[in-house]
Parts: sequence; structure tokens; C-alpha cells
Amino acid sequence: MSQYDKHDPRSLYPAPPFPKQEQSLPGAAWKMDPRPDHGEQSYVGTERLKGYRGIVTGADSGIGRAAAIGLSREGADLVLSYLPDEQEDAEAVRDLLEGEGRRAVLFPGDISDEQYCKDLVQKAVDELGGLDTLVMVAGRMDSNDDILTLETAAIDSTFKTNIYSLFWLTKAAVPHLEPGSTIVTTGSTQASSPSPDKIDYAVSKGAIKLFTQAVAQQLAPKGIRVNSVAPGPVWTPLQPGSDDAETVSSFGEDSPMGRPGQPAELAAAYVHLVSPESSYQTGSTIAVAGGMPVF
Ligand code: NAD
Ligand code: MG
Repeated sequence: MSQYDKHDPRSLYPAPPFPKQEQSLPGAAWKMDPRPDHGEQSYVGTERLKGYRGIVTGADSGIGRAAAIGLSREGADLVLSYLPDEQEDAEAVRDLLEGEGRRAVLFPGDISDEQYCKDLVQKAVDELGGLDTLVMVAGRMDSNDDILTLETAAIDSTFKTNIYSLFWLTKAAVPHLEPGSTIVTTGSTQASSPSPDKIDYAVSKGAIKLFTQAVAQQLAPKGIRVNSVAPGPVWTPLQPGSDDAETVSSFGEDSPMGRPGQPAELAAAYVHLVSPESSYQTGSTIAVAGGMPVF
């Protein structure tokens, strides 16, 4: 099966109820039941990104892993960013992509640290000889249904990981990006339909949308395009890492599709926004949300 085969989207992937499961943040893809599909067996590339050099954050698991597989199979060489605790997931991605003949350089670190963001961009320039695309997928999500117990440290961590890192990585990357280069951010349906137990996360995702729109206008005169992907519910370690077992078990049931998306179903959106085929798109957001309304 490839992403081009016709299929019924309702029954293509598992639907809730899922086995009850929880993890601590950051979760691991290899611990999930069922295992997420990142397109390992299905994504077929057509040389849309031949010669591209890119960075993917959060590339060890979930949507970031699927984006990395898609970009790599389209011809891109990549530096993969993730947290040191996620080494096992990251090595699985590297082994897959390098086994297929592309470069996939591991560079673990914490994007809530400005120096790491600078080092990550420098690593890509040094290892790949330049930079054509910055794909920012990493994000922190936690749940808390009482603002009175939402600690400043948690708010700081969410905002630094999800918002500050976009500023730091973009600032570091822009001097290396030639006209035709691209930046992709990762929003969420939470930016327009916030959940009451995810205030800090939803606010951060709203900020990402505005960041994308504002920076797109600033960088258009340099020939650099900036776009975003807004996922709905997607089966990744973010859920068992952030929500209780009950919530994970019914994850995706509210989607008109009756199931959560799988990371593999988002890869094409990232590839499209990175590649020259989207040349007149900038400041835009592609929702991949199974019919969940996105405004
Ligand atoms: P995931 O857990 O697989 O990916 C998130 C990644 O973020 C982790 O693998 C980790 O490497 C990275 N990360 C987190 N904190 C970091 C830090 N301080 N430094 C460096 N890396 C860090 O889960 P995912 O669902 O694939 O998440 C990817 C993106 O998609 C996130 O931005 C998330 O907000 C967004 N998103 C996910 C969903 C969903 O339902 N899964 C919905 C909307 C948006
Ligand atoms: Mg991970």
C-alpha cells in the first residue's frame, strides 16, 4: 500500500477504544499500542526535494518522524532534533533513512534552550553544507484542569518549547536561507478550539499561527516562504504522555472520521509546504484534522 492507493479513510486505521495506556513526557513511539504508522511501509517519494538540506525538530516520533520520512524519501538530507531521552526512537528513524541511502544526522538537545537552537542550525550547515528548509514539529503539551495549580515552571516550559524556539531557530536559520527556501511550523486545532485543560498549550498554538502569518510577510521579500500544518487528533506519544488512560482510550472518537489520524497522514502536507510546488503559498495553514472544524 502507498499513500496513492484509493482506500476508505474511515477504516484505514485503528479507531477507539484503544488499550488504556499512559507514559511520562516525552513519550516513546515504541511503547505505544497500537504502534503509530509514520509511513515507514507506505510513503513513496517522487524526487520532489532532490538535493534539499533540512532540519526537522521532534523528528524521533509522531508527526515529526512522519515528516522526516516523507522529506527524506523525496530526496532531502536531514538533521534530526529530539530530546536526549528519545534516543531509541531517534535511532530507529536514522537507521531507516540512512538504510535507504539518505543522510539523517542525529542532534539531540532541548529547544527551550536558545544556545541549542543556534547549535542545531550550525550543525545542519556544517554537516549538510547549507540549509534549504526548517521544519519545526517539536512541541510540549500537558494537561491541567485547574489554573490555580498551573505552575509558572510549566507555563515557561510550554512557551519556551513551543513559541520561543520558533524565534530562536528562525533567527539562526534565516542568514543561511536562500530565496526558494521554506520554513514550516506546527499548529493545532487547539489554536481555534481550545480545551479547558490545555490553556498554556492552546495559547502557544495560537501564537504559532500568528508567528507564521507575521514572519511570512517579513520574509516574503527575501523569497523565503513560511507556512504551517495544523493537526487534529493524531495517534502519537504526545497523548499517553499528556492525558490520562481513559482519555487516550477514547482518543479521536469526536472526529467526524471516527478515529484519530496517524502521523503518516500528515507527511504529504509537510512535503507540499517545503517543496517548490507550493510556491505561492506563504502565511498559510493546512489543517489535517479529520473533519474537526479549524478557523
Ligand atoms: P510527539 O511526542 O511524537 O512529538 C513531539 C516531539 O517534540 C517529541 O518527540 C520531542 O522530540 C519534541 N520535544 C518536546 N519538547 C522538546 C524540547 N524541549 N526540546 C526538543 N524537543 C522537544 O507528538 P506529536 O503529536 O507528533 O507532536 C508533534 C507536534 O504536533 C507538536 O507540536 C504538537 O503540539 C502537534 N500536534 C499534535 C497533535 C496530536 O494530536 N498528536 C495535535 C495537534 C498538534
Ligand atoms: Mg518523541
